[in-house]
Amino acid sequence: MRNNHTDIRNNVTIVPVRHGLFSREWLVVLLVALTAIATWTIVWKVPSQRTEKQQAVYKVEKRVKELEIVFLDVGQGDSIFIRTPNGRTVLVDAGSAKNQYAAFDAGEHAILPFLRTRGINRIDTLVMTHPHADHFGGMQSLLDSIEFGEYLDPGMDHPVPSYFTLLETIQKKGILYREVKAPQILDWDPEMFIQVLWPEKGFRTENPNDISIVLRIVYGDIVYLLAGDVEADVESVLNLYGNQMRTTVLKVPHHGSNTSSSLNFLENIVPRLAVISVGYNNRFDHPKAEILTRYEKMNIPVLRTDRVGTIRTMTDGKVVRVFPELGGPFEIFPFPSEPPMESS
Ligand SMILES: [Zn+2]
Repeated sequence: MRNNHTDIRNNVTIVPVRHGLFSREWLVVLLVALTAIATWTIVWKVPSQRTEKQQAVYKVEKRVKELEIVFLDVGQGDSIFIRTPNGRTVLVDAGSAKNQYAAFDAGEHAILPFLRTRGINRIDTLVMTHPHADHFGGMQSLLDSIEFGEYLDPGMDHPVPSYFTLLETIQKKGILYREVKAPQILDWDPEMFIQVLWPEKGFRTENPNDISIVLRIVYGDIVYLLAGDVEADVESVLNLYGNQMRTTVLKVPHHGSNTSSSLNFLENIVPRLAVISVGYNNRFDHPKAEILTRYEKMNIPVLRTDRVGTIRTMTDGKVVRVFPELGGPFEIFPFPSEPPMESS
């Protein structure tokens, strides 16, 4: 006889359920209960067990994300490494390849060792400011050695054979190519504001220096202006921004050449520190004495990679700490904030 009974109220036959120790239903109930306990422990119990000190450290760690910008000593040429507060890696230019003017390949002998010692095997964004050998020559050896996410350049109308060779390599390796134009905003890091100030769309030139990508990088109160090799005619167009171009750290345009760093330009940006990326005893006699005098008269401190080597800077968005390879570290503050004056 089956052990069933009939609920006469609903005329429904109810079959009793067996509640054995390992029945499927019990296992489900057990699993749900264990998950609930585990969740409660992780979400609520563990934080409540942190000491106040641990919680304070945790909060501070969250706040001290820093932007790092390093002006690498690559001899005559430019190469700037950037690590954004959220860890994106960017390389702006890569110095020169070995040629009749350059004694070494900057990619192989300067940039790669720098990246290797930091365990960096991937650059998320590679920027080529303009197709001159002292800015992109070192890229070829880097492309063979590490991984790149994307490649940005200003686009050029007239043919430069070595530039097309570089583009071929970029294409073969399947690296995303993006042509950038002002006033594009670059989405490197949500905590930063990065604007392409130059070149403008439709701008044509036979002078590769003047098509240089100019980047304005803002983190908190701190502004970096990476000016490529633009010359005075482009600087005069950029002057339309007026004092909106106020800058904390300027990568001096065109290695301190007298074609650039025009007075009005400097008066608009008023940098707290000027960095000149230049080769020791270079054949162009960069930086020019008259340009150095101009910076000096404006009380703008200048650091040169041929004198102090690689220049590393770190900022929390309030102050920039500068670590030259040679010479002691120091701090600079943004315009117009000043460190509090000592009362006499
Ligand atoms: Zn250059």
